[in-house]
Amino acid sequence: MSSNEPAIFEPEERKARYDFNKLQKKLRRLTGRAIVDYGQIEDGDRVMVCLSGGKDSYTLLDMLMSLQRSAPIRFELLAVNLDQKQPGFPEDVLPGYLAELGVPYEILEEDTYSIVREKTPEGKTTCPICSRLRRGILYSHADKRGANKIALGHHLDDVVETLFLNLFYGGKMKAMPPKLKSDDGRNVVIRPLYYARERDVAAYSEARRHPIIPCNLCGSQENLQRQNIKAMLTEWDRQQPGRVENIARALRNVAPSHLGDLGLFDFPGLKADTLIPLVARDGS
Ligand code: SF4
Repeated sequence: MSSNEPAIFEPEERKARYDFNKLQKKLRRLTGRAIVDYGQIEDGDRVMVCLSGGKDSYTLLDMLMSLQRSAPIRFELLAVNLDQKQPGFPEDVLPGYLAELGVPYEILEEDTYSIVREKTPEGKTTCPICSRLRRGILYSHADKRGANKIALGHHLDDVVETLFLNLFYGGKMKAMPPKLKSDDGRNVVIRPLYYARERDVAAYSEARRHPIIPCNLCGSQENLQRQNIKAMLTEWDRQQPGRVENIARALRNVAPSHLGDLGLFDFPGLKADTLIPLVARDGS
């Protein structure tokens, strides 16, 4: 076939391409919407994209690169992965993939694995200490590189799961924000996949054949409470499609006067409007 002839695809392949393009457009649209709605990226930003080697962060990077090409603003991207020295971590996978993608990238190496092992009490999950250490290293690196924004790959399902974790086990009405200033005020963390469902991210990532590196190389299992909540959301998706999206929508539609937080609404100061005496019909 000459290079000028149009490619002929089998019906299944055509359908797969059509579905993939649709999904890509949907994720791109949702990412763009979160960026605009929450002012996540502004003109002149340098955005450090944290890549774990999981489906979420690969998808995030694709979306940001795609938007970078067409957005009316200019921003820089720097992909960063932290090699935490877990046994079996495939060191060549990310550099090979990122070089081919043509995005500026850095691989940091820090043996947090040994610290995590040493500091985690027997029988406890290693993820909380591991994530804290990882966060600290990545945030300092963003400072070093002058990156004013740090992009993370959390999606809508992560947001809703966190809400229920805090409700069920923490007694707090608190989820994951789309944009957050770090405690020391030096970094702004953004979550551009805030509106995207995990199933769409997973399907996209699979179709793109991202070279996935599992997070649990360290042998840690995801915390049981989060697993239970994930199972609950999966069941809800089956029973009543749209429920999880509705919960996510509720996070953007809060009525503080109909909750009970004294810090958000002045309940003690709430009084009836000054009464205007009713005048009897006969004027008396
Ligand atoms: S699974 Fe292992 S590498 Fe991943 S966050 Fe947990 S402790 Fe860290």
